[in-house]
Amino acid sequence: MARLTLRAVEKRFGTVAAVKAVDLEVADGEFIVLVGPSGCGKSTLLRMIAGLEEITSGEILLDGRSLNGTAPRDRDMAMVFQDYALYPHMSVAENLGFALKMRDMPADEIARRVREVAGMLELDNYLERKPRALSGGQRQRVALGRALIRDPAVFLFDEPLSNLDAKLRVGMRIEIRKLQMALGTTSVYVTHDQIEAMTMADRIVVLRHGEVQQIGTPMEIYERPANSFVGTFIGSPPMSLLPASLSQEGERVSLVFGPEQQIVLPPERAAALRNTNVDRVEIGLRPEHISLAEGADASREAGFASDIVLVEDHGADSMAMVNLGSQTIMARTKPGAVQVGDRQRTFQVDADRLHLFHPETGAALV
Ligand code: ATP
Repeated sequence: MARLTLRAVEKRFGTVAAVKAVDLEVADGEFIVLVGPSGCGKSTLLRMIAGLEEITSGEILLDGRSLNGTAPRDRDMAMVFQDYALYPHMSVAENLGFALKMRDMPADEIARRVREVAGMLELDNYLERKPRALSGGQRQRVALGRALIRDPAVFLFDEPLSNLDAKLRVGMRIEIRKLQMALGTTSVYVTHDQIEAMTMADRIVVLRHGEVQQIGTPMEIYERPANSFVGTFIGSPPMSLLPASLSQEGERVSLVFGPEQQIVLPPERAAALRNTNVDRVEIGLRPEHISLAEGADASREAGFASDIVLVEDHGADSMAMVNLGSQTIMARTKPGAVQVGDRQRTFQVDADRLHLFHPETGAALV
């Protein structure tokens, strides 16, 4: 069992509040990803869990036992760093076995575990090499192996894939997740890459300016972002944000972008929005919320017309840049469905799924 609990954990560096009152419960075997832009405090939070950074206030517990005051080496956690942190003068086998040697494990037992971990990570043929004679991907495998071999209660990953090229990153993220699931080890993984967060996490913690913005499964965060920051940070291509004013006629509520462009909200969302007392909103639209309206399907209720500004072909689908209100946004279409320069094509907006945010606070409205 390894359940990790953070209670009102804070870190201040002088006057800088790097991490503000973070509460988090990581279940046994769970893979949690801390994600956010540079400087949001994710590395500081991870380092506090590892014991490499003192906490200013709050408490960190493992299986209900406080770790405050416990030295890093006594926390039963293994950390994998972005820069691998290998010993350059030692071979791969010596790097892998080093932590066990420090714990006075018998040499034959160390050799057995080195072979086992090297097998898991396909490092068998490199055991005698020094780190400088390895590729970046192989070095990262050794770094991973050094964490695995200790069989710790918790894995901590600090942007472990940032130094690898894009293709290797995709392969390694699958491999890390497969290994972690097979071992069932509780893990906290830091990245600034939202795709890594979406594809690897059981649950994501989105941080900004040291504060938790939202905690949830990847789909919860994608489909129900708590605010416009989370909405635009998670998702690729990113969500577009557009200001709109609200027009109300009886029960009917429309989003107004310009004289020719209005979207009527479905009755349930209109009713919920009326209770919020706002007269303007910020709309969050993902490309898949906008589709080309074909012939008789074209309902003007939740549609708008625009010239086609640009088309990006992605192979399986295309992104059409279209004008809505004062902005150019992306709509997902079938390849070849629209051409650059097409005039006044009609698009349909999924008014059930578009996001509505408060114009000042950015908080999700309904
Ligand atoms: P990045 O992705 O760029 O590594 P991050 O989200 O991991 O960013 P942190 O490194 O945790 O962010 O830093 C959070 C904040 O704390 C930043 O404003 C940073 O400048 C500040 N900070 C971090 N370490 C120190 C330190 N030792 N002394 C002073 N300020 C620090």
